[in-house]
Amino acid sequence: MAGDPVAFGEATRFAPSPTGLLHLGHAFSALTAAAHGRFHLRIEDIDRERCRPHYEAAIFQDLAWLGLDWPQPVMRQSDRLPAYQAALARLAPLTYPCRCRRADIRAALSAPQEGALPAGPDGLIYPGTCRHRRHEEAEPDDVIRLDTARAFAALKIDRIAFRDAAILPGEDHVLSADEFAQGIGDVILARRGMGASYHLAVVVDDAAQGITLVTRGKDLFDATYIHVLLQRLLDLPTPRYLHHRLIRNEAGKRLAKRDDARAIRHYREAGATPADIRRMIGL
Ligand code: GLU
Repeated sequence: MAGDPVAFGEATRFAPSPTGLLHLGHAFSALTAAAHGRFHLRIEDIDRERCRPHYEAAIFQDLAWLGLDWPQPVMRQSDRLPAYQAALARLAPLTYPCRCRRADIRAALSAPQEGALPAGPDGLIYPGTCRHRRHEEAEPDDVIRLDTARAFAALKIDRIAFRDAAILPGEDHVLSADEFAQGIGDVILARRGMGASYHLAVVVDDAAQGITLVTRGKDLFDATYIHVLLQRLLDLPTPRYLHHRLIRNEAGKRLAKRDDARAIRHYREAGATPADIRRMIGL
């Protein structure tokens, strides 16, 4: 990509969830990954309730139609639960079981707060109600949270930093431990009924696939602080990052999977070529 400091030759990936048809934003993400090196596909299907096999089949077909190919076998998160469990076991001294439901968290946050509740890349900033609980007290329905303050202390660091190839390239993006506590909080590492949260799975999987450059939308930029912290805690390498622009509709709204009209498949059925798709997304 013109002007981009990251060279071709990276190990990159595209990691869609099979919860709907791929849209133009996904095409942009996948083509950006492929433009920078060897492209890997990963099916992010830990949320079994929302994922559907026919959407996975559609992902393969749509990407192949766009002219992409990828190493086989494709990694599927649903096959990776033992790897997530191993990571969770390793982090156990820094985590705790949490039984708060969304309503409990909202109630705890709204007491001292007027107006919008504080939220970050992992949702509402958890007020720490369960932080004192021990794993022996865990109930089957609990989620597992990272005690962020303990994590920073264990690493003997007071900030997280990374660089991005697209957003202020060459400069460090820095978040202090205090800013992390206030703006992100104690993130969820495992959810009810799932072996891992997105944040834990993505970190474990990017390392397992040997990804050197993570290309994904800007909407995930803030989540990268969580991922870098988890990489440090798990002794995994931090890949390079490139958070790209988001593809929006005419109203300026970011595309979502429910915007079926923008599905790659529908353009294709209406006679568009892969070159037309590239043009539509400014490639
Ligand atoms: N499965 C995520 C999504 O579809 C991808 C996140 C990532 O690229 O790290 O948004």
